[in-house]
Amino acid sequence: MESSRKKTMSLSLWIAAAMVAGILAGIAMWGSMGAKAAAAFTTAWLKPFGTIFINLLKFVVVPMVLLSIIDGVVQLGDVKKVGTIGIRTLIYFLVTTAIACVIGLALGTAFESQFPVLSMAQNQAFKAKAAPTVMQTIVNIFPDNMWKSFTSASMLQVIFIAIIFGGGILLAGEKGKPTAVLVRSMEEVMMKVMMMIINVSPVGVFCLMAWVVASQGPSIVTSLALVIGVAYIGYIIHAFVVYSLSAKIFADMHPADFFRGIMPAFLFAFTSTSSLATLPISMECADKLGVKREVSSFVLPLGATVNMDGTAIYQCVATVFLARCMGMHLTGTQLVTVVLTATLASIGTAGTSGAGTIMLAMVLEAVGIDPIYIGIIFGADRIFDMGRTSLNVIGDISCSVCVNKWYNAGTVGINERSDG
Ligand code: ASP
Repeated sequence: MESSRKKTMSLSLWIAAAMVAGILAGIAMWGSMGAKAAAAFTTAWLKPFGTIFINLLKFVVVPMVLLSIIDGVVQLGDVKKVGTIGIRTLIYFLVTTAIACVIGLALGTAFESQFPVLSMAQNQAFKAKAAPTVMQTIVNIFPDNMWKSFTSASMLQVIFIAIIFGGGILLAGEKGKPTAVLVRSMEEVMMKVMMMIINVSPVGVFCLMAWVVASQGPSIVTSLALVIGVAYIGYIIHAFVVYSLSAKIFADMHPADFFRGIMPAFLFAFTSTSSLATLPISMECADKLGVKREVSSFVLPLGATVNMDGTAIYQCVATVFLARCMGMHLTGTQLVTVVLTATLASIGTAGTSGAGTIMLAMVLEAVGIDPIYIGIIFGADRIFDMGRTSLNVIGDISCSVCVNKWYNAGTVGINERSDG
C-alpha cells in the first residue's frame, strides 16, 4: 500500500506540474501571439490531445458505472442478512448524500455569477436544446434498447439497467453467482484500465490547460481558485452542520468529541485521497469513539465503497461551474437530474484517488455539458480530492456512531448475522 501511495503521490505531482506548465505555456502564447492567434493555434494543435484524453475518460464511464452498480446491488443482497441495521445505514448514506448535493448546488448557484463564461464556449451556444420536462426525464430513464443506452451513454438508463440486472443476479440465486463473480472480475479489470488512463493524464492536463489559458487569458486561473474555494466551503458546511447535528441528535455525542475522534482518519484521508486506503484508520477511530466492532466492520467498508458526500458536493459544484463556462444556466429539471445523477455517481465512485472526476463525466453528460471541459478543473483535482475524500471518510464514521447508538439502544438488531 505504501508503494502505491507513493505512486499516486508522484502521479499527482506530475499532474500538478503539468497544470502549472500548461498555465505558463498558455500565458506565454496569449501574451506573445495575441488572444486570437493563440486560441487558433492551441485549438488546432493542443486541444486534440486533450480531446483524446477526455475521450478515454468517457470511454470507461459506461462500463465503470454499469459494473460497479451491479456489484453494489449484489452486495446489498448481503445487507439484507444484517437486517434493519443495513436499511438504517443505507438510509443514512442516501439522505446525507442527497443533502450534500443540495449544499453543492446551492453554493454553486450562489457563486454562479462569479464563474466565467468562456469565450470559446460561447460561439457554440451550447446546442440550446429545449430542456425535457420532469415527466419526459422520468420516461427517459426506462430504455427500450439496452445497447442504445450504452452507445449513447444515457447514464440514467445505464444505472437503471445496472440496478435491474443486479436484482436479476440476486433473484437467480445459486445460478446467478457465476455472473456476480464475472461482474466483480470485470470491475477489477476496468479499474486497472482506468488507472492506465489516469497515468497518461499529465499530457492531457498540459494540453487542455494551455488551450484554455491561451484562448481565455490568465483570468481563468483565478476562476479555478474560486471554484476550489466554493467546493471547500461546501465540504466545511456539510461537516460542521450535518455531522455535528447527527452526532448530537442521533448519537448523543458532543460534536467536539466526534471531531476529535475522527482526526487521525481525516488527516490520513486528506493526504492519501483514498477512502479505501483510509479504512483501517477509520476502523481504529470508530473503535476509540466507542463503536462496537460488529457495527463498524459492517458500516465502514460499505461506506468506503458507496458513501461519498464530499464527492457529491464536488460533482454538483463542478457541474454548475462547467455549465457556466459553457454559457449554460441549469433549469429546475436539470438541477433535479444533477441531484439524482450525482447521488448515484457518488455511490458508483470507487473509494480511490481521482475516481470522482471520472464519474463527473456522467453527471455532465446527463445535463448535456460536453465533458471536454473537465480539462479546466482536472489539473487541480488533487486539491478537490483531498477535501472530498476527507468528507467521505468523516461521513462513514459519523454513520457508524449513529448506527452504533441505535444498535446499543436495541432499536435495530443484526438479524441472521453470519459469522463471516
Ligand atoms: N478519492 C475519493 C475517495 O476515495 C473518491 C473521489 O475521487 O471522489 O473517497
